[in-house]
Amino acid sequence: MLKIKAYAAQSATSPLAPFPITRRPPGPRDVEIDIHYCGVCHTDIHQARNEWHGTTYPCVPGHEIVGVVTTVGSSVRDFKAGDKAAIGCMVGACGRCASCTDGEEQFCDQGPTWTYNSEDKISGGATFGGYSQRIVVDEAFVLHLPESLDPAASAPLLCAGITTYSPLRHWNVGTGQKVGVVGLGGLGHMAIKFAAAFGADVVLFTTSPNKAEDAIRLGAKEVVLSKDPKAMSQHVNSFDFILDTVSAAHDLNAYLSLLKRNGTMTLVGVPPEPSPIAAPHLIFGRHQLAGSLIGGIKETQEMLNFCADHNITSDIELISIAHINEAYERMLKSDVKYRFVIDLATLTS
Ligand code: NAP
Ligand code: ZN
Repeated sequence: MLKIKAYAAQSATSPLAPFPITRRPPGPRDVEIDIHYCGVCHTDIHQARNEWHGTTYPCVPGHEIVGVVTTVGSSVRDFKAGDKAAIGCMVGACGRCASCTDGEEQFCDQGPTWTYNSEDKISGGATFGGYSQRIVVDEAFVLHLPESLDPAASAPLLCAGITTYSPLRHWNVGTGQKVGVVGLGGLGHMAIKFAAAFGADVVLFTTSPNKAEDAIRLGAKEVVLSKDPKAMSQHVNSFDFILDTVSAAHDLNAYLSLLKRNGTMTLVGVPPEPSPIAAPHLIFGRHQLAGSLIGGIKETQEMLNFCADHNITSDIELISIAHINEAYERMLKSDVKYRFVIDLATLTS
């Protein structure tokens, strides 16, 4: 086994701290990656603190991983030592069910193996994520990071990027459409960039007045303070599509009434508490409420290539791993511009 330095939460209430882990030696189909950068997703907080009630401890979070290939197994053809590579939220799936054969492994009938806090079907125990020095992954779940993209600023594409790209593509967001993005954090800022790149007129809904200027710079045409009922009422019955990225409990009904006839609101944020829906907000206007989960491996590569072609990366604050607990506290105050990324070169103890 390979001995690796990492950071882990030992319980729902303990801060993340240094914790040594082991990884399997690369098998014939495996790629071993030296992790250079790992983005900090709000899911990492939900999981480290057991907010979704399924965390196995110790928990090593991190599923926005970028690095360089060090070793490949004997049957690996698509990667070689020295290649820039990336790992997102999944490291395995059955490969045989309808979802897997359609390239949507995130909906695998047996459940995909998540990059962390998932049963490790190869080595046993739980999978450990990217707050660590190295990772060993089946090549089918390894992405190519295009040369032109800045590696640190690309890390968040592996979750925040694909999670917003995929629903915007699925619901055919494009030119001439009015699209709402709810929440300007890691996912929200990528949603604005992608929706604007696809040609939509983007409106940001935010609880943070101080983010308005950034939203316009990122590509929004307009910013609405969601706590101002008068500002909200000016947009009734006008949106083709709304993407909700909010991580905490909030009123969904207020947004459903802003949809046009046949409009869709898609949830990607996962607040720990359920949200009540008043049926009339769906019935009048035949509105649809939907959800979306990351994206498949094929679509993730397509998204990375799109980012290379359109010069899109995340706006990041690069941190040393010793500041991870502080970063979590800032995210909980909606104070991140707009994604923390850990520089793993700082993981020395
Ligand atoms: P983040 O960077 O912390 O951003 C969340 C944003 O939500 C905040 O910046 C804030 O935006 C808004 N917000 C926070 N608390 C709020 C409240 N009480 N009321 C209204 N708005 C509030 O989080 P993230 O990393 O983007 O993740 C967002 C959510 O998506 C998390 O629940 C995460 O687990 C989930 N997620 C889902 C998927 C998926 O596949 N579906 C993938 C990744 C993440 P403003 O300051 O602009 O109001
Ligand atoms: Zn994530």
